[in-house]
Amino acid sequence: MPKAIIESIINLIYPLLCIGCNRPNNNGESKGYICNDCYSNIKRHTPPFCLKCGRALIEIKNIQSGICPTCLNRQYNFHRAWSVCNYEGLIKELIHRFKYNQKIQYKTIFKNLFEEFIATFNILRDVDLVIPVPLHPVRLREREYNQSQILACMISEIIKKPVAEDILVRIRNTKSQIDLDEKSRINNISGCFAVKDGIKIQSKSILLVDDVLTTGITLSEAAGALKELNPCKISALTLAS
Ligand SMILES: [Zn+2]
Ligand SMILES: [Zn+2]
Repeated sequence: MPKAIIESIINLIYPLLCIGCNRPNNNGESKGYICNDCYSNIKRHTPPFCLKCGRALIEIKNIQSGICPTCLNRQYNFHRAWSVCNYEGLIKELIHRFKYNQKIQYKTIFKNLFEEFIATFNILRDVDLVIPVPLHPVRLREREYNQSQILACMISEIIKKPVAEDILVRIRNTKSQIDLDEKSRINNISGCFAVKDGIKIQSKSILLVDDVLTTGITLSEAAGALKELNPCKISALTLAS
């Protein structure tokens, strides 16, 4: 009996459940185990986007200036950032499990979201090289994989540009940023990145990839380390902000 038929019989007896709403859901791995309703309900950022952090602009005065209230007094070392979703609800939960609970299979959902976003807004056409925000080797051993590296490989497949995994390195194992205020975050992260083989990024347009942008401090610090080697442009892309 063909495999597809056997699978549909098994699904009839033991229906797959959506990881968002727990209702029976026949979307298998191709859709990332999430039902169509839950997938559509993930809140995406929509234009106009903040020209710095990529979040959706809401207030008229911000739409006119092109900059969101959070970014008004901030300078980043990257040219601009893009982010697909609002960091809340189901996507926040999925990213957390992907990062800390070994739920690597959720990457299909993330890939679908990235693909849609990149195609809809026709962005990243000038990128030459994709670089993930690295983990420190000690943290990498604990976690077994770098979630940003998985996402960067995904983006590399989508935009058909190479990913460079060993150019940007983390030379200091920093504390988690979650419970730190903004000033402590800057101190915590300062000087934690270094660049190897800088010649490879000279005159290149680089896309930095991370799972989440909150204050933008980590991505800006990573971009700052790369900037010293004279790339022509550094942008950033995250799944949520
Ligand atoms: Zn659902
Ligand atoms: Zn902003």
